[in-house]
Amino acid sequence: MPSLKFLGTGTSHGVPEIACSCDVCTSTNSKNRRLRSCALFQKNGRSLLIDCSKDFREQALVHKIINITDILVTHAHADHVFGLDELRVYNRLHKNRINLYMSPECDNSLRILFPYIYGQPLQKGGGVSLLDNHVVQPGIAFDAAGFKIVPIPVMHGKLPVYGYRIGDLAYITDCSYISEESFKLVRGVKVLVLGALRYREHPTHFNLDQAVEAAQIIGADQTWFVHISHNLDHDKVNSELPDNINLAYDGLTVRF
Ligand SMILES: [Zn+2]
Ligand SMILES: [Zn+2]
Ligand SMILES: [Zn+2]
Repeated sequence: MPSLKFLGTGTSHGVPEIACSCDVCTSTNSKNRRLRSCALFQKNGRSLLIDCSKDFREQALVHKIINITDILVTHAHADHVFGLDELRVYNRLHKNRINLYMSPECDNSLRILFPYIYGQPLQKGGGVSLLDNHVVQPGIAFDAAGFKIVPIPVMHGKLPVYGYRIGDLAYITDCSYISEESFKLVRGVKVLVLGALRYREHPTHFNLDQAVEAAQIIGADQTWFVHISHNLDHDKVNSELPDNINLAYDGLTVRF
């Protein structure tokens, strides 16, 4: 049975936030400690990473991730891709290149963010991650690491980004708008992972109410919220949410 492990469930700042002394940032509940959002699918001994967060080094050490061959990238914001540098070690250990799947916009942005990976190295001597970008099209299924995947186009403010459907699970992180067409692409999933930032509205992310509304339209058996800020206390928010909608937490594994 395929599984999904949440390596990180935090927003771009992570929780606790630097220099913050709010109740959530100073909480002793380990579920209020959130690394940057990133997750690992596993099936039949194969693995597929979704995003490669700024905290990937720590996530790989904690969860003993010994190899990565394929990565679904949702978009090129720093919190989702600044772990790509850490992949050098897998290239060296396993003598392979790593496949990345993404939208055309994300491909363009990664080439600008990482000229030393995608262009000429700035200087000889330092190893860089060996990555092969594959541009995939909205709604068109493709195979990666033995998984059948469908890119789900959604909007993150004005930025077009991808969620991904993997069998009966959909993973949509940074998102403020889902079109009718994209709702159709996720119809019938059993497990939904969806970004829910905070109580107040935000220009580029669903707040809690908007995420609950989208989750109820999609109607999965179970919805897990991710990309959570220090505004949301794990136990308090979970007690207020409908029974089949919960905040995820770092280290949680779900099967689908
Ligand atoms: Zn983000
Ligand atoms: Zn705080
Ligand atoms: Zn983002």
